[in-house]
Amino acid sequence: MTHTRNTPASEAPPADTRAGRPHLRQPRVRRQRTFPAEGYEGRAYRARAEPMTVRPLRDGRYVVESEGGTYVVDAERETCTCPDSAIRGARCKHIRRVAIEIESGLVPAPDERERVCAVCGGLMFAPVDQDGPALCDRHDHDPGDLVRDRETGALLVVVDRIGDRADEVRTGEGRLVSEYETNAAYGDHEPVFAVVYVESLPAGDAVDDFGTWVDALRDSRRYLFPASRLTRVELRAGDEEGGKSGEADAGPYSGRTSGTTGAETQRA
Ligand SMILES: [Zn+2]
Ligand SMILES: [Zn+2]
Repeated sequence: MTHTRNTPASEAPPADTRAGRPHLRQPRVRRQRTFPAEGYEGRAYRARAEPMTVRPLRDGRYVVESEGGTYVVDAERETCTCPDSAIRGARCKHIRRVAIEIESGLVPAPDERERVCAVCGGLMFAPVDQDGPALCDRHDHDPGDLVRDRETGALLVVVDRIGDRADEVRTGEGRLVSEYETNAAYGDHEPVFAVVYVESLPAGDAVDDFGTWVDALRDSRRYLFPASRLTRVELRAGDEEGGKSGEADAGPYSGRTSGTTGAETQRA
């Protein structure tokens, strides 16, 4: 599928995505849609201009309702139960429409399914084989992400996505992550992340040796937090000189030598 992203004529564009990550979706309202069709011809035109409804099935196929009938499309095999495909072997308008809706982020790809973000409840598409609670793009974290602890304000680096629920993961002390008083305000059902404190990492000249940094990340004591206790700290270009950063609770972060702003008292 090489279609560029297109905005369907009949509704607002979907939230955009970071490649390969779950992302927020439109609510589950499936109605007939059309797409701008100017400049297209034949089946490509009809795939866009004709009102159709596309519904994903559990097995990765799609039901397409059009004025001419209701058909089932296998997007991976590019087959459809309509006469145009089944008899003539054409890449019919239904197959094309499914491809357009997948490309536009309106329906999940065959290897995705609709999930609900454990933090905000937003609908999104995530890989079928992804276990554990799901997180939307806004609430997910990747290893290497700089985040801030909502409880203490401390700067942390995400080192692992544990993925299992906070009421299923035990810390080194043998307690469930959800049992900690400081995690009471966060959902027991949220996936857990392992982090290290930025202040525990080497600062200044020592960091210029990348190997030192990697070793420190590996050897630093890890802490387990539920997803929404961590807020992403966005670094913008130019922040090396100590510019403002952070989307929710902004604080000073002067590149890689910071993280010493009173965090000692927040360690507990
Ligand atoms: Zn068809
Ligand atoms: Zn979310």
